[in-house]
Formats: sequence, C-alpha cells, structure tokens
Amino acid sequence: MEPAVLQRSDHPISRKLIDPDTLRVLYRLKDEGYEGFLVGGAVRDILMGRHPKDFDIATDARPNDLRRIFRNSRVVGRRFKIVHVFYGAKNIEVATLRSMVEAPLDAGDDLYIDDDNQWGDLESDAFRRDFTVNALYYDIRTFDVIDYTGGLADLHDHVIRAIGEASVRFQEDPVRMLRAIKFAARYGYHFEKHTEAAIRALPAEIHKASRFRVTEEIFRIFTQPHRERGLRLLHEYGFLHQIYPAWIKAIGDEGFEQVADFFASIDREADDGRFYPVEVVTAGLFLPLLDSVDIQVDQYHRVAARVTAEIGNIARDMDLPRRLAAAAVDLIRGQYYLLFHHHRPKRVQRFVQYANFDLVWRVHQLAFGHVEPLHPLQEIWQDARERLNAPIGGVVESPDKRDIFSFRGKTGGGRMPQGQQGRGRGRGGPRFAEPDNDGWASFDDTEAG
Ligand code: ATP
Ligand code: MG
Repeated sequence: MEPAVLQRSDHPISRKLIDPDTLRVLYRLKDEGYEGFLVGGAVRDILMGRHPKDFDIATDARPNDLRRIFRNSRVVGRRFKIVHVFYGAKNIEVATLRSMVEAPLDAGDDLYIDDDNQWGDLESDAFRRDFTVNALYYDIRTFDVIDYTGGLADLHDHVIRAIGEASVRFQEDPVRMLRAIKFAARYGYHFEKHTEAAIRALPAEIHKASRFRVTEEIFRIFTQPHRERGLRLLHEYGFLHQIYPAWIKAIGDEGFEQVADFFASIDREADDGRFYPVEVVTAGLFLPLLDSVDIQVDQYHRVAARVTAEIGNIARDMDLPRRLAAAAVDLIRGQYYLLFHHHRPKRVQRFVQYANFDLVWRVHQLAFGHVEPLHPLQEIWQDARERLNAPIGGVVESPDKRDIFSFRGKTGGGRMPQGQQGRGRGRGGPRFAEPDNDGWASFDDTEAG
C-alpha cells in the first residue's frame, strides 16, 4: 500500500522543534545505515502546533543493534520491548518497527495480546498503532511525513479513530479505550462513529488489562489539562463504574458533580499557568466525603477518624499507590482541621507550620475559595501563615509530570516537579518533612494543646 507523503515544504516539522538529544539518536541511526523515524505523540503534537510532551523514535534496528550502537542504553519492557537511550537524566525511547500480532489461535474469544514484539516494516508498524493521529512518521532521511492510516485527515478533522476494527483493537488491549478518552479530552477531539460505538460497548473489557496500566492511564487523564472533560467522558462511557465502583457509589451523583467542579477549578488555574501536584488532584476525588458536619456538636477527632477509615478503604479498592492514599487522607483531614480549629490560636499557629499545610490550603481554596461565608475563617488561617513570613506554596509553574508509581519512598523518594525539589527547594514550594507512608509526611495532631 502506498502511503500519503507530505514533503518538508508542506509540513511544519522542522529540526528546530525536535529535542536535540532525540535528533542525535535519529542521526546516529541514519549514519549506522538504519531507518529512523520520529513517531507518535511528537509528530502529532507538532503538526497540531503544540509543544510535544515526549519524543518517540521508531527504527528498523533491533534491540540488540540498538544496544550495540548506543552504549548508554537499556532494554526495558516485556509485553512491549523498547530501548532507552540515556542522555544525562533524560532518556529517549527507541522502538523497533513491529508488525501486527494476532491473538494466539488457541485463545478462543480472548483477543488480548500479551506479547507485542514481532518485528516488521514501517507499514506494518503503522497499522498496529492505536489511533490514526498517532501513526504518523517523520523520516530523518527525507524529512517527509508518512501517513498510512489517514491520520493527517483525522488531525485536520479533529477525530480520534481506531486503526482497523475498533472493537477488535480494544479487545486486544482495553487500555486503548482509556487512551482514546485521554486524547479526546486533551485536544477536544471527537470519536469516529465505530470507535465511539466500540468504547460504549466494551467498558467491561477493561478488567482484562493490567491494573497498573489502568491506574496510570486514569491518572494521566486526571493530571492533564481538560481533566474535567476527561472525568466526564470516563463516567459517560461507564469506566468509572467498572474501575472504581466503591468510589462512585460512595460519592453519588452529587459527589461526582462536586469532583467535576473541583477538576474544573484546577483546569481554570492551569489556563492561567498555575499547576498543582497530583496529591491535590487526588484529594479532590474524596471531597464529597466531607459531608456536612456540625462543628458545634461533632468532634474533630471522631470525624477525622471516620473519614480516614473511609478514604483508606476506598483508596485500597482503587489501588491507589500508598503515598497518594496517605496524601488524600491527610489533605481531607486538613479540611476538617481548618473548619474545627480556626478559633484555637495555638492549633492555628502549629498547623500553619505543618509541612503540607500549603497543599491543605490549596485544596481548600480550589474547593471552597469562592464560598462567601468561609471568608472570615480563611482570613484567620491566612493571617497566621503570613506571620510566618513564608508564602503559601503548593502551586508550581509546570504540570506535575511525575509518574504516580515512581515516587515510592524505597526507590529514593519522589521526583518532584521542577522547582519543587524535596529538601532545599526554592521558596514557595510545598515543604515535605521526613517521609513516612512512602514519602508522605502526615500531620501529627495528637499533641496539640
Ligand atoms: P503522549 O503525548 O501522551 O505521550 P503518545 O501518543 O506519544 O501521547 P505514548 O504512550 O507515548 O503516547 O505512545 C507513543 C506511541 O505508541 C503512540 O502514539 C502510539 O502510536 C503507540 N502506542 C502507545 N500505546 C499503544 C497501544 N496501547 N496500542 C497501540 N499503539 C500504542
Ligand atoms: Mg509519547
């Protein structure tokens, strides 16, 4: 099959827009006599006039060739083997061109593919990719953009279209449905008819996918721009019921709207260049559990203990990493602390010094900042904090790109987003005390007077 080809003069991908280390790898492949293509998100994003998140490379060189050509490299993955080439802290992902893998003959109705390492040529590689807009290649030898699947037209029309038969592709790998939602939300694109019908029909297939990949993809949706839209799409197509049944039941319809509003607040902030760490986003999922308490009658400790247990159970059911669950519990307890103890000066003074007060405050602002009757209370906390002469942090200038599974304590602590580096980071970032709970320092309120 002949692909559509856009020559350099007809597309905007210039080498200036490609990350220099990625470019180096591409040139190196070419010099060694191999094919080298920029592919996937980077091609798609540059063609859309956006700044790519990362740069993926495809080549006809096999993993062993790559290991030989690039000394600073490592093979990763099993189901889908790729080679990481390291430049300092950065790594460039290089994948060998593949062909479509058919589900094993003895698999019956089970189309799920758990070994996707059959090598192939450019054409076969294009057709085993997920969506047409993700299957465009930029050839380092000719600077052409190569399109086998109609991705250029779909980019133009703002369409997410599965390559091949959508229902088959989603059964092979159900995470593709979450990826479809991720892209539709991120770019405001719509689903092609068959793609949409398959997504609507197959949410229950998601249980066949690895729980780890599912959680990761869900959190990509929750931490990217337009997360409100993403959350609503997940709900509309039945994925929240499938993946997080205990949570969706616990928060109810009204609670869902509350979470969507919280996400919308974060989205608006992102439009203004203010971003929040994933802990804040996660805490937002549990805001509906802050049901009406009567601060005259109820006691902080009783209410906090109840919500701690409740969030703990739900978070376990959601398979949240421990650190995120601990953060959510703490940030929600913090909301009660703000409500219950604003008239206790000693506690106020102590709580504003708590390492994660900043994030508690940010959650409060995002959720309740606009609630007029709370303004006097908010002033109390703000004044106390001002007396510390430490501006309230918790907001960063760039999106939190941490992989939610990558900041477990044992692996040497978290990679915080830029400008927010653990100890000794610049002023204004959230302060993290000695970590427990896989890196999250909980507030200890037992000795408060
Ligand atoms: P992002 O901007 O989020 O990185 P991306 O499209 O680059 O988007 P990646 O997860 O980095 O997404 O994957 C790179 C490319 O690999 C995709 O563009 C797509 O062509 C292919 N791909 C990724 N996951 C799958 C999958 N589950 N099935 C088929 N192809 C996939
Ligand atoms: Mg990518």
